[in-house]
Amino acid sequence: MQRMGSTEYVSRATNEDLERILAYAGRPGMISLAGGLPDPSVFPREELSEIAGMVIGEMGQDALQYSAAMGVPKLRERISRYMEEELGIGGQGPDSVLVTTGSQESLFSISMSLLREGDAVFTENPTYFVAYTVFREFGARVRPSPMEEDGIDTHSLEAAVRSEEPGRRKFIYVMPVAQNPTGASMGEEKKRHILEIASQYDLMVIEDDPYGLINYSGARPRPLKSMDGEGRVIYLSTFSKVLAPGLRIGWAAGDPGLLSSVSRVKQLIDLNTNTLSQYICSEALERRLIQRNIGRVVEAYRRKRDWMDQALRSEFGDRVSYVLPDSGMFIFARFQGVDTRKMVMRAVESGVLYLPGDSTFVSDPDYSTARLNFSYPGREEISEGIRRLGRVFRPSSP
Ligand SMILES: *Cc1c(COP(=O)(O)O)cnc(C)c1O
Repeated sequence: MQRMGSTEYVSRATNEDLERILAYAGRPGMISLAGGLPDPSVFPREELSEIAGMVIGEMGQDALQYSAAMGVPKLRERISRYMEEELGIGGQGPDSVLVTTGSQESLFSISMSLLREGDAVFTENPTYFVAYTVFREFGARVRPSPMEEDGIDTHSLEAAVRSEEPGRRKFIYVMPVAQNPTGASMGEEKKRHILEIASQYDLMVIEDDPYGLINYSGARPRPLKSMDGEGRVIYLSTFSKVLAPGLRIGWAAGDPGLLSSVSRVKQLIDLNTNTLSQYICSEALERRLIQRNIGRVVEAYRRKRDWMDQALRSEFGDRVSYVLPDSGMFIFARFQGVDTRKMVMRAVESGVLYLPGDSTFVSDPDYSTARLNFSYPGREEISEGIRRLGRVFRPSSP
């Protein structure tokens, strides 16, 4: 909070608990399972450095210049092709692509364009807490529906939508693949039902899909957008989890008219997405570097997920339960008889950090849950971190 003269600037976008917890991550010897960082060993540094040198040396005239608010045309074209070839999302030409500073800016500028005080946004519960903080920042009322093993309870979603006045219904926000935090992937039946609800009640759907191409079981699910006959879905994705988050390149794909109005808001924020990063990603797509890197990411994270799974099983046995995620970077575990919120300081003292699950719930928190990240820590840190958790969560501990 900042003071200026007599005016106090207060943002609704604070999560003080979370900030307090993450502040301990830097302590010496601390094992953090609380964050959500990719493993830097999957960044293709040599090839990226070659591309960056080439882009500056040979295309610097344009690559170091301001660029269009919608994004660099060549990158929009290549993203359009990437969605078609890799994700099975057809019919989204370059005009249907808005390049943004990560998916985060898509979430922000779409919310800023569409939301007015009191509007209803329909989400999963728990959900990506960063997204619902954005919706709240623009005055939305967030209406959560519970998560089941195969995704959001769509009957509860329909009831929530029905209960709102038509003029107040804004959009549905879902993560069909490796939902953050639960790791659950949505079944086909639920996907169809969501599109039916959107059609019946004249709603838009925001599909947030950072992990669609990362899959540990070999059966890659279809994005909602690929089933979207009425053009109601705005598809968000990003190169953060498959290439490098530091480049800050994401995009929104969908209705060109809507996205061009979103781009006017985006222009107020930053004029254009980092031009150099856009050129680098465009070249990385053209050389199929991103497509090839996905294989490395999958291999590295599948191993780490399995190490964490084994460590949890051997430390907790049947006192822990979770859906083993097919994708993504987290295991969302329920620890029988434990209040993870209350144990957080004891965990800090024992040298391990996790994200208490309650901070990811919009309502009705399950206090026995914790979100555990497996993408960033190494093998030894994963097993030692879970061992420490075992000591902290032991039923007999005073
Ligand atoms: C990581 C992640 C993002 C990506 O954010 P960027 O701004 O593209 O780095 C968006 N949504 C979810 C659910 C995520 O897990």
